[in-house]
Amino acid sequence: MQRIKLAIQKKGRLSDDSIRLIHECDISFPNSIGRLVTPCYDFPMEILFLRDDDIPGYVEDGVADIGIVGENVLVESGKNVDEVLKLGFGKCRLSLAVPRGMSYQSINDMSGKSIATSYPKILQNYLNQQNVEADLHTISGSVEIAPGIGLADAICDIVSTGSTLLSNGLKEVEQIFASEAVLVASKNLSAEKKAILDKLLFRFVAVQKAEKNKYILLNAPNDKLNEVIKLLPGINSPTVLPLAREGWSSVHSVITVKDFWEMIEKLKAAGAEGILVTPIEKLIY
Ligand code: ATP
Ligand code: MG
Repeated sequence: MQRIKLAIQKKGRLSDDSIRLIHECDISFPNSIGRLVTPCYDFPMEILFLRDDDIPGYVEDGVADIGIVGENVLVESGKNVDEVLKLGFGKCRLSLAVPRGMSYQSINDMSGKSIATSYPKILQNYLNQQNVEADLHTISGSVEIAPGIGLADAICDIVSTGSTLLSNGLKEVEQIFASEAVLVASKNLSAEKKAILDKLLFRFVAVQKAEKNKYILLNAPNDKLNEVIKLLPGINSPTVLPLAREGWSSVHSVITVKDFWEMIEKLKAAGAEGILVTPIEKLIY
């Protein structure tokens, strides 16, 4: 039987979340510290541990069949692979930053200036769209120190909280690209590997849905039931079961994490008691 080859980042910001996602799909593999490739026990898959920059190219060439990589790295690589699913972790943005003392009104201020970046393609694309001509300096790391040492007037780099910029005397002035981790696939998968990918996708999506939802159980007096039920969407509609206590019911439903606290307040106000909320492991619908 064929195995699909999944490339993930060996060591870095995407590694833990990638491995966690695989484990949450009930796919396990031997402790792989220091290994380049490992087979999975209970799923027809092999995991390749690579530098994130190499993942798009390996997937394009078919060395790996699928991979988990940041959209920033994917787009910058220019490699021809399919983006199959956004994974919701590794979120960051690619931003333009200038020294704090520099006045900045718009991107036009970058005209004729030099910008240091590890993302020349994405940045050049953005500048072209804005009709701005700047001088790009491609450097592979520690971009944020470039203005301080006189290498460039501005930088374009990954930002998540902005603390690195702050400590280097820079201010973020323009967001040019938003990124998160994505699952990519080779364009030439065999039918058998496509079928394995579909199975994996089914599990990824079930885990993602579960993370976005919680299971809620509550008790309500029967005369308040209608009001409580109106607040709860459920997947189809909430489950209502009679309690041993006369005139009371237990209501079960699924709610989204997003509006969780507001929902709880409204339910309490509507007469719900003994509210129990638990995580969902998998959700399929
Ligand atoms: P490698 O050794 O694999 O080449 P790296 O140093 O290039 O690793 P990391 O710093 O581990 O890469 O980041 C991997 C990816 O995580 C980034 O390309 C980006 O998509 C994402 N990411 C999320 N938040 C951040 C952040 N605050 N800074 C940098 N990258 C981030
Ligand atoms: Mg890298």
